[in-house]
Amino acid sequence: MKQEGALASADFEGVGSIMEAQWSRVLDRLKAEFDEGVYNSWFKPLALVNVEEGCAVMAAPTNFMRNWLESNYADRIRRAWKQENPEVTDISIIVLSAFKASEAASTDTSGLLDNDEREERETGGPATPAARPSVPTRASRAAVVQEPGNDYGAPLDRRFTFDSFVVGKSNELAYAAARRVAENTAVNFNPLFLHGGVGLGKTHLMHAIAWTHKEMFPDRRVVYLSAEQFMYQFISSIRFKDTMAFKQKFRSVDLLMIDDLQFIANKDSTQEEFFHTFNALIDHHRQVVISADRSPTDLEGIEERIRSRLGWGLVADIHPTDYELRLGILQQKANSVPEVEIQTEVLEFLAKRITSNVRELEGALNRMVAHATLIGRPITLEMTQEVLQDLLRANDRRVTIDEIQRRVADYFNIRLSDLLSSRRARQVARPRQIAMYLSKQMTSKSLPEIGRQFGGRDHTTVMHAVKRIEELRRTDSVLEEDLLHLERIFST
Ligand code: ADP
Ligand code: MG
Repeated sequence: MKQEGALASADFEGVGSIMEAQWSRVLDRLKAEFDEGVYNSWFKPLALVNVEEGCAVMAAPTNFMRNWLESNYADRIRRAWKQENPEVTDISIIVLSAFKASEAASTDTSGLLDNDEREERETGGPATPAARPSVPTRASRAAVVQEPGNDYGAPLDRRFTFDSFVVGKSNELAYAAARRVAENTAVNFNPLFLHGGVGLGKTHLMHAIAWTHKEMFPDRRVVYLSAEQFMYQFISSIRFKDTMAFKQKFRSVDLLMIDDLQFIANKDSTQEEFFHTFNALIDHHRQVVISADRSPTDLEGIEERIRSRLGWGLVADIHPTDYELRLGILQQKANSVPEVEIQTEVLEFLAKRITSNVRELEGALNRMVAHATLIGRPITLEMTQEVLQDLLRANDRRVTIDEIQRRVADYFNIRLSDLLSSRRARQVARPRQIAMYLSKQMTSKSLPEIGRQFGGRDHTTVMHAVKRIEELRRTDSVLEEDLLHLERIFST
């Protein structure tokens, strides 16, 4: 039996009729397992290339389809193969660009796509009609074993739960809001919009919402995916003339989470589709959670009507971490590897020195743990300094008090000399406090050191400034915007 997929005409040597029969039964299994839209979008275009050494090699027409299949459906495909042929223990998906070029020519949807999206579709190499897929060796086969989130969402990371999330001042609002969404079916605020810099826990919180919500309400349809994946699915639905199915599936979920929304900036038709989906869900009182690296008002390249609607629910920002939170996170991670002994002073040192984001902090700890496991000795401070030399230097380079003072003075349009002076006029006193606050947050300098650099002030003055700004940023939204702006300047 010939499969109907577009690659069916490709006549690969070595694919015997037994294999072909098995392949068509594998497809039947997948067809039965998934709804039609998913099947048509993702499995139907696949072609069997070969089965050798227990590995079934299939070809997809584009890179993005291959990647999507690998990260979402590899397990299901492998299972279906195993059920048909127990000798198949592994699968591999390659890209066959020759097919892609001819297929793209016959399905012209380019009018519907804007430039970026079109570009996306056109990567994949030149047409080489006679090309035969080169079957990868065992070593080059990517082992993709991921837990699929659901039929069309992205995989969820088991480690990203509320339990493993350490709460501090900088993320408590986001955490509380995420919990509220996860533990309720009634919609409290819609959408929940989480924003903050890279590596500060946005994705972690969204996965935690998904895990908790699914556990508490098994019947609810929860879908998590990145804005990028949303776009790929949308493009694919246009390509396979399947937009109705696309619309239906996204409009039938109870809780939709889209991560890294900034990705669809300037991608007009994807934005349009996102906006329709978003409105439909909100109108039907389904919960929507969005994340981005900046606030709705700052999302450049996203239409004004979308930005304003994104701000209708609860906007919760995740601030850069402070020392206590960093230490808390390190302690929690260190406790999860009880077999390795890490001195407290090492954790304190890391929390103080690695201030960029949590991902780097975790990376540093992991490196130390790996090192300790290898050499079989407890982790000491000297060892840490040596092993992490490069990382520490990179973090050191980040921000100096000097730079903070100059930037803050620039931003508020005052003279640097005024910022450092003892003038108490509000238009210089507030920026000064802000600069002190940022110096405390973004450098590892002590309060007395900071005081010295601000024209020889006492450390209690610095402490007062830090407290004052901390309080104010919770209530004064203009000040909060200023701080976010400045923090962003320094984190790039
Ligand atoms: P983002 O999506 O904001 O870029 P992630 O959610 O991917 O950041 O977080 C980066 C890494 O840091 C992840 O491994 C995550 O588990 C960890 N992380 C971030 N914030 C916390 C926290 N408050 N407690 C524990 N781990 C955290
Ligand atoms: Mg993320």
